[in-house]
Amino acid sequence: MPIPLRDSRAPTRRSDADHAAAATSAEVLRAWDRDHVWHAFTQMQEYEPLLIERGAGAWLVDTDGTRYLDGSASMWCNVHGHRHPRLDAALAAQLEKVAHTTNLGLSNPTTVEFARRLVEVAPPGLEKVFFSGDGSSAIETALKMAFQFWRQAEPARPERTRFIAIGEAYHGDTLGAIGVGGVDRFTALFQPLTFASLRVPSPGGSCPHTGRPAPALDEALGAVDRMLLAHAHETAALIMEPLVQAAAGIWVHPRGFLRGVADLCRRHDVFLILDEVAVGFGRTGTLFACDQEGVAPDFLCLAKGLTAGYLPMAATLTTARVWNAFLGVHGDRRTFFHGHTYGGNPLAAAVGLASLDVFRDEQVLESLPPKIARLRDRVERLAALDHVGAVRQCGLMAGIDLVADRAAGTPYPWEEKRGMRACLAARAHGALLRPLGDTVVIMPPLCVTLDEIDRLADAAEAGIRAATGA
Ligand SMILES: *Cc1c(COP(=O)(O)O)cnc(C)c1O
Repeated sequence: MPIPLRDSRAPTRRSDADHAAAATSAEVLRAWDRDHVWHAFTQMQEYEPLLIERGAGAWLVDTDGTRYLDGSASMWCNVHGHRHPRLDAALAAQLEKVAHTTNLGLSNPTTVEFARRLVEVAPPGLEKVFFSGDGSSAIETALKMAFQFWRQAEPARPERTRFIAIGEAYHGDTLGAIGVGGVDRFTALFQPLTFASLRVPSPGGSCPHTGRPAPALDEALGAVDRMLLAHAHETAALIMEPLVQAAAGIWVHPRGFLRGVADLCRRHDVFLILDEVAVGFGRTGTLFACDQEGVAPDFLCLAKGLTAGYLPMAATLTTARVWNAFLGVHGDRRTFFHGHTYGGNPLAAAVGLASLDVFRDEQVLESLPPKIARLRDRVERLAALDHVGAVRQCGLMAGIDLVADRAAGTPYPWEEKRGMRACLAARAHGALLRPLGDTVVIMPPLCVTLDEIDRLADAAEAGIRAATGA
């Protein structure tokens, strides 16, 4: 018996009484949502419930039956669209076998196969896969592995305990992840609870604290070189997002920065941790962003798109060199004493595996160039609006800065929440968008069509005009 999936076809005709009941229950649900659900990154006093009940492709449908384009790919993780038949089927088929088994000391066929496929598609040298549940955990895993490696390496280098991170980095919200994070508005409060990282300026955007403009490529690489010359001896790893710092505001690095940083890390024997939680799985036009500069890191952190936006799962890929330093008999205490209860969950692995099949069989990466070009055209048109400052785009991710004064580049007072207002206004035009501060972000699922990109851009334009009085 196949598992009956929830029917999400077009709504069947309802009687007036059904309509009334449905309307009441949506209202009640909104009230319960307001009363009981503490939403992530949300000021609950100002929260206005919107309950998404169904989805198909790049579209989401709320409890009132209103349709929206999913312009943020359900928080940057949906890849092939909602309710993709092959992903749904893979999940149902795995449910016929088992939903969860532990990966603490045992395994299951689906998870093993998924690990093997990840190794096949990952940059060369990444042969070992540690599964966890979310992006922050994938980062914690890499940080702890890198740290422990140097204590167990031969010769041991226990003084290599620090991490180098990029200005305005975002690597998640757990304590280790905010130790290497640099988006002050999220993390400054919690800094006393975690460690301080060494920090090099980002070539992707101007420093929000000093206002200093982004350094050019040479200058940025020079800063990394100087940092490594001074601190490599006490540094376990350098961590960065390749090509684009997503949460910083879709900050796009100049070409060659990733390659340059990778070469410098190699020269100083400092591990390179690449956080592809946001940019992985086709987002920048290639399966992994680091593919574009031919870089193979020591650690590759994956999450968001890993299961195409279906289930929580993350992976930290690493090399045989790292793995070997943890081998020994139990009494050697070289084991990696770290793990997550749902790490390697077979339902998530089944969908992840099916997602890689979809990438291959539906030629998803090959389908992207015209979509990326269309998004570029549309973002360039948005750049002409009165209150739009800089715009940035890489692959199917774009950021549009709203500014009070275009010529002078003056930002809006942050408490005016112009970015949020623009995105809320865009809802009325059929798009769900989520800003980063006053940057409006457009990040649709990769399955988006050219027509849907136009609709998203139209909605974003209408939202920006409404929020900036243009
Ligand atoms: C979202 C994100 C994370 C954290 O992932 P979670 O699953 O939310 O814990 C880490 N790094 C980057 C670059 C991200 O975009």
